[in-house]
Amino acid sequence: MGKAAKKGGIVKGGAYIEELTRIDTIVIDKTGTLTLGKPEVIKVENLDGHSEGHVLTLAAAAEKHSNHPIAQAIVLKADEMQIAPIIHSTYKVVPGMGIISEHDGQRILVGNPRLMTDNGIEVSENILSQSVRGTTTVLVAHDHRICGIISLADKVREESKKAIMDVKRMGIRTIMLTGDNEVVSKMVADDVGVDEVYAQLLPQDKVTRIEELVAKGRHVAMVGDGINDAPALARANVGIGMGAGTDVAIEEADVVLMTNDLEKIANVIRMSRQGYRAIMENFYGTIGIDGIGVILAFMGLLNPLLAATIHTASELIFIVNSARLMR
Ligand code: ADP
Ligand code: MG
Repeated sequence: MGKAAKKGGIVKGGAYIEELTRIDTIVIDKTGTLTLGKPEVIKVENLDGHSEGHVLTLAAAAEKHSNHPIAQAIVLKADEMQIAPIIHSTYKVVPGMGIISEHDGQRILVGNPRLMTDNGIEVSENILSQSVRGTTTVLVAHDHRICGIISLADKVREESKKAIMDVKRMGIRTIMLTGDNEVVSKMVADDVGVDEVYAQLLPQDKVTRIEELVAKGRHVAMVGDGINDAPALARANVGIGMGAGTDVAIEEADVVLMTNDLEKIANVIRMSRQGYRAIMENFYGTIGIDGIGVILAFMGLLNPLLAATIHTASELIFIVNSARLMR
């Protein structure tokens, strides 16, 4: 468990309070963060003479090795259809793209179009047009040809829209990053109201986006669940991890949302801003009053009783100022 988690789930160390007050850009991951990250298979399209059951058999054989939410949804669907599992001995997870597995000279690829084209498998427009529009599309290839298309749908979290609205009201820019396709990403972005969206990114592209923003002098908070976004969480000025995300999310994050409640993002920043302002007011206030007191004392204008009164009265004001934060 990460340090933030051990501290009861808000902030790892005081240093982040100052950093949090400066945040002017929030970069947020789609899958598992703005959405629940629990996709469901809504359609299996079989091509090239394969049956629907065979497409799922192949896909589940590869996905058994992955802990990606898409993989879990596909394995679950195969279980529901009582498809007898075949176990593939060798496999390779390609982060942000999918999985490749091999068994008895059979090679199965399950993933996005990029995984296919990168491995020399042709993906025609005709094939892509058969996926359900606005869903996450996973292609299944066998024998160097696409044999099936699995469409999956995930639900946007109930609080996502309000959470985005709250941070935008604070003058913070919101940017959604995702490895998913353009159409579904645009739909989620419009739904929750983020200012900008970048789709089809690999984990490394997410880091690059954040580095570009930081290089432009922006103060960036990244919110993610740790699946393919842990390096980006680590690279942002402040990483905010979903508590129910992966262990890496909790490990890499500076702030952890233990209840996964995105509305807490605005709260955390607001509380930091208020807390920091109170610290500064009290700091400069004390210096100011004590400074004046010292000058007056040097000029012989301050007797001990008046000095004690000014000192305790001002202290009382600063205590009350801090106490306002408890509300
Ligand atoms: P996000 O950035 O939205 O959290 P990921 O980076 O986890 O998404 O994945 C990006 C895309 O890569 C997915 O939308 C999917 O098309 C593909 N992909 C990743 N892992 C898998 C997998 N295990 N099986 C199938 N497709 C996958
Ligand atoms: Mg994610």
